[in-house]
Amino acid sequence: MAGQGPDHALAVENLSVAYPLKGRDKSGARRRLLAVDDVSFAIRRGTTLGIVGESGSGKTTAAMAAALDAAALRRARQRVQIIFQDPYSSLNPRLRAAEIVREPMLHAGRTNRAEQDRVIDELFEAVGLRPEQKSLFPHQFSGGQRQRIGIARALSTRPSLIICDEPVSALDVAVQAQILNLLKSLQRQFDLTYLFISHDLGVVQHMCDEVAVMYMGKFMEQAERDSFFAAPRHPYSRALLDAVPTIEAAARPRPPLVDGAIPDLSEPQTGCRFASRCPHAMPRCENEVPLLADATGAAGHHRLACHLADEIGSAASG
Ligand code: SF4
Repeated sequence: MAGQGPDHALAVENLSVAYPLKGRDKSGARRRLLAVDDVSFAIRRGTTLGIVGESGSGKTTAAMAAALDAAALRRARQRVQIIFQDPYSSLNPRLRAAEIVREPMLHAGRTNRAEQDRVIDELFEAVGLRPEQKSLFPHQFSGGQRQRIGIARALSTRPSLIICDEPVSALDVAVQAQILNLLKSLQRQFDLTYLFISHDLGVVQHMCDEVAVMYMGKFMEQAERDSFFAAPRHPYSRALLDAVPTIEAAARPRPPLVDGAIPDLSEPQTGCRFASRCPHAMPRCENEVPLLADATGAAGHHRLACHLADEIGSAASG
């Protein structure tokens, strides 16, 4: 279910996404893959929520389903735009750059050509492209410039929400910072709301006001950015942070992320999805699904789903 309050660009409650599979499970029910399981979040206007997790965690599925299940597609196209991961495959190679930026306006029924041209001129300048580049084709641009075209395209209908799906992970490291800073300055300029999907916690820390950590279709931890990075609490979040190659992370004594099987999401889940990889797993973790609950001792909004939440909370605040 998706909706929105006056302060929110998007609010999603109890979102689940299941894909049908062949065959039946042990109980005789038709098998299905539960890619997203009971996820809730809200994004305040003008802010950024980051959903972070490894590939296959369900973060992109959750973002797309949350944004697109609410309204009829035509209206959603205008209301929600996407900046894709790969600027090479996401631009039509046969269209000139200006026409790529014009397309969403045509889909949205904005037929005034002069107004379209005005928006295109404004956005080319806003994303740092030169007016004469409007007539070039995608192959005549670098990767970073292509992503600037993708960003201009996403902004052209003035959407209330932009999904940024790993928008810099296909770019050279030197270009990544330029694109991230551009996204931040455009957010201020146009009062944009972002749902930012990434596997990279460094990028999320730079970009996001709130963070949700997703593992195998479930939110494990959800918090304001500063609270999260000051004291990440969930064992999975801590393992993700430990995997970031920084001097600071290397100096932090943390339990290692143990190898383990990934749960089969086509079977009903009876416990914590992270139990097979968690260094703190105990029998209860196999038999009882931990619910997202407010973290003890946290300043501000901070929730986590772990049977050890209280112990971790006292350690984090002590
Ligand atoms: S509920 Fe158990 S297995 Fe899951 S993260 Fe917490 S301690 Fe680890």
